[in-house]
Formats: sequence, structure tokens, C-alpha cells
Amino acid sequence: LFVSFEGIDGSGKSTQARRLADTLRAMGHTVDLTREPGGSPGAEEIRALVLQGDPDRWSPETEILLFTAARRDHMERRILPALAAGQVVICDRFADSTRLYQGASRGDRRVLVDALHDLMIGREPDLTILIDMDPATGLARAKGRQGDEERFEDFGLDLQRTMRDGFLELAAAAPERFRVIDGRADEDSVAAAVLDAVRPALP
Ligand code: C5P
Repeated sequence: LFVSFEGIDGSGKSTQARRLADTLRAMGHTVDLTREPGGSPGAEEIRALVLQGDPDRWSPETEILLFTAARRDHMERRILPALAAGQVVICDRFADSTRLYQGASRGDRRVLVDALHDLMIGREPDLTILIDMDPATGLARAKGRQGDEERFEDFGLDLQRTMRDGFLELAAAAPERFRVIDGRADEDSVAAAVLDAVRPALP
């Protein structure tokens, strides 16, 4: 089973991904908890190239190629082998983040993102948990822990709004894959809702 978590910065998706991994392990499942960009040694190197340093170092198109290259490496080296071994793979962000952050934040490049995805990645998660969060709360939470890496937060509230709307549109277009969960509830309630959403798909 391949589950991705998506959501805007400060939505709580990383916390919830970790909690789901802990819960499933306690239930006896073998879980590989990973993240993007990154998740394999090569992809983590690409993450550092893209998320650190001068934001204008790469053109938007080159950046899409780098994110796709990182995902390809992550798929080949980690996700597909784990799935083949019968593990539950939980990935904090996956291709939907690229569709929005690279495909829709600075001009519309969705066609390019989707074409490269079809050519080089070729599959979606079985289930995508979208932790929906209002943009202002997410931004406030994310700013509280801002590190060197999180350059994209400089776009601020407008970016958060665009990304939130974009995630909800992706979810509406693929309801069989997405489960939208209200991230404003307390952490335990969100974790319970996530588990309810995933339980029917468990092996
Ligand atoms: O998920 P995480 O908080 O680790 O993401 C780090 C930063 O990278 C975030 O600010 C996020 O907005 C950005 N990002 C991005 N494009 C992606 C994935 C993440 O701009 N495809």
C-alpha cells in the first residue's frame, strides 16, 4: 500500500504521516516512512540543490526536471522495492506537491509536470491524504519553525491560498485516490480521521 500525505506548509501533514506510521507499526504492519523531495541518498542531494541557496539558481523548467529526477531515484531505490516487499509506504509529499509548487505557483507549467510524470514516474499513490488547512493558520505555524530550507514561504499568504485551492481541486478531480481531512481539529482527532481513511485500504 502506497500512501502519500499532502497539504500546505503548516498543515500538520508531517506530524500526521509520522503518527500513522507509528500506529500501523503498532498494528503489526511493516512501514517505510519517507518524504519528498528526498527519501533516497541521491534525491536528498537533489533536495539540497533545489531548496537551499539562491532561489533563482534554477529556471522553473530546470527545477521541474530536478524534482522529477529526485522522484525517479526515490521510486527506483526505495518506494518500489518497499512495495514489492509488501511494506506500507507512507510518503510525506509526492507528485501532487510538484503539480502545485512547481506547476502552478509561478506560472502554469502543469502540462510539463504531468508529461514528465507520465514518462518518468508513471504511477500515483494508492491513497493520498490531504490535510486541509486554512492558509493563514498554516502560514503562522510554518513561520514558527522556519529553517534555511523553506524559501518558498517567502511567497507568503498568496502562495498558501493558491496551493490550498490547488490541492482541493486535485482532490475533487480524483476522489477515488484522495481523502480530504480537516486539519484544524486537534492532533489526536486528525490522527483518528487519518486512520479511519486508511484502514479500509490496509493489506
Ligand atoms: O514538506 P516540507 O515542509 O519538508 O517542504 C519543504 C519546503 O519545500 C516547503 O516550503 C515546500 O513549500 C517546498 N516544496 C516545494 N516543492 C515541492 C515540495 C516542497 O516548493 N515539490
